[in-house]
Amino acid sequence: MIGNLSSVSGYLLTVLVIAVLIVATHQIRLGRLQTIMDELPCQLERAALLYSERLLVIDRPFELFGRVDQVWAREGGQLIVADTKTREVIRYYYSDRLQLTGYAFLLKNHPETRARSIASYGFLRIPQGRKAIYIKVPLLSERAYRDHLQHHRALTLGTARPRPATSPLICRGCGHVNRCPVSLINPQ
Ligand code: SF4
Repeated sequence: MIGNLSSVSGYLLTVLVIAVLIVATHQIRLGRLQTIMDELPCQLERAALLYSERLLVIDRPFELFGRVDQVWAREGGQLIVADTKTREVIRYYYSDRLQLTGYAFLLKNHPETRARSIASYGFLRIPQGRKAIYIKVPLLSERAYRDHLQHHRALTLGTARPRPATSPLICRGCGHVNRCPVSLINPQ
């Protein structure tokens, strides 16, 4: 019995150690467990960090929530959103524009920040070794963002068909390619 218990606790300890290592590795990649120098872009040089990892919830014009990594306040009061990503390639994708636009939309409609000006761009913060670099990302228009949300809801309800991707390269890495009716490539 004691033997069984010790082998179970040994197993649990191993699982726990692996889980801690995975979390720690992820935190290190995000630059949260090491001294990391942020190479701030000129737009953020004299800005103050207003929110860090802040949950924003709104119920108007519709219910929406999101946890924004960073919101910076420039000297003149304008707010800029930023999101930390770990990736090898220093670039942004459409999904990043969508995510940052969502945060800006939340700020625009949140009681604490709705009176503030929100920049029409945001930043991706990408840790690279001991420094983090910021790349500027143009936000989508509010109309394009609302259109995306509406389409997403219709897809969830099954009342809309997926729109084709803008490039076959995107379809090549897509997990839905075998059942997608509008794929731009022939599934193998
Ligand atoms: S396969 Fe279909 S769902 Fe996947 S990216 Fe291409 S168009 Fe979009």
